[in-house]
Amino acid sequence: MTPKVARFLVEQQPATPCLVLDVDRVESNFRALQAALPLAQIYYAVKANPARPVLDRLVGLGSRFDAASFEEVSACLEAGAAPADVSYGNTIKKVSAIRAAHAAGVTMFAFDSAEELDKLARHAPGARVYCRILVENAGADWPLSRKFGTTVEMARDLMIRAGELGLDPYGLSFHVGSQQTATASYEAAVGRVGMLFTDLRDAGVKLRMLNLGGGFPVRYHDEVPGIDAFGGAIMRAMTECFGNDLPEMVVEPGRFIVGDAGVVSSEVVLVSRRDPASEVRWVYLDIGRFGGLAETEGEAIRYRIATPHDGGPTGPVVVAGPTCDGADILYERSNYRLPLALACGERVELLATGAYVTTYASQRFNGFAPLAEHYV
Ligand SMILES: *Cc1c(COP(=O)(O)O)cnc(C)c1O
Repeated sequence: MTPKVARFLVEQQPATPCLVLDVDRVESNFRALQAALPLAQIYYAVKANPARPVLDRLVGLGSRFDAASFEEVSACLEAGAAPADVSYGNTIKKVSAIRAAHAAGVTMFAFDSAEELDKLARHAPGARVYCRILVENAGADWPLSRKFGTTVEMARDLMIRAGELGLDPYGLSFHVGSQQTATASYEAAVGRVGMLFTDLRDAGVKLRMLNLGGGFPVRYHDEVPGIDAFGGAIMRAMTECFGNDLPEMVVEPGRFIVGDAGVVSSEVVLVSRRDPASEVRWVYLDIGRFGGLAETEGEAIRYRIATPHDGGPTGPVVVAGPTCDGADILYERSNYRLPLALACGERVELLATGAYVTTYASQRFNGFAPLAEHYV
């Protein structure tokens, strides 16, 4: 938790649950990534946290943006981003959204199928297009499954076809999975995708850009490698693959930029012992799976929890949310321990919750209001 967030919580005592996010930390994360990968253009993945104060700060820093929908494209433009600095990175887009983005001046679009490529050729003629390739997501705590990306073989044909359709065959992309903790995943993906640059050049198509996606991890329950380790691994792989003839490099960080800038403040609703024979206590918070903590599904993302009694003796707990839904349990199998002194009515902080939280809050599920937000 940054000092600014801690001060805000003490001075303002905002009603819980709420997210408090330090926009200065967004800036320092952006600068750290820039320093780790000075040759790459940063396209912030807006979906991680689309709040206006975040976009404003990033526009001021010269960031570019990766948008998942036309609504996100608009949010970036309203915050002052130039259309040329917005990439429409979702490979699945409505025709109306493609047309609206094209009309707004967006020129960079992702695709991963012949059908989507045809839509782009018709509704965003002349656009710079890049093809997303499916790569291994091993090592990612929040893998992106097989929903996106195509094979190297298919990408080859599609990039040739892109040129024939009057589009600009700009480059290739991949995403190694979110909260990716293995630097080797990027190296493997660069190696896999890099070969296609050579192959396509021989076929007369000169690609100019490699988009390495997002995935850079945030420290949650476990330590993760620092951003410099990822930068180093990526540059080694790029040099090995391309020598001195590096293409433009793009990264699309979401989680890394905003994750550790934010803290969710929550009230303990109940601490109970459900089974007298067990030392496990159930700790119910006023935020759960439906209030924004969707990434606790499968206990995939394990947030650290700060309490007023840290340092005191602890015992095992199950941590659950406030709704009447049986799935609203955050952590049951991950061996969470919280102080024995923790009591109903006290506040706890879920750390590093700036990414993928506010947008995952359901609207009034069980009557609970969506998560309040404070940008400091
Ligand atoms: C979600 C997403 C990102 C951001 O991923 P993080 O793991 O949050 O860095 C980047 N690019 C694309 C295409 C995405 O879908």
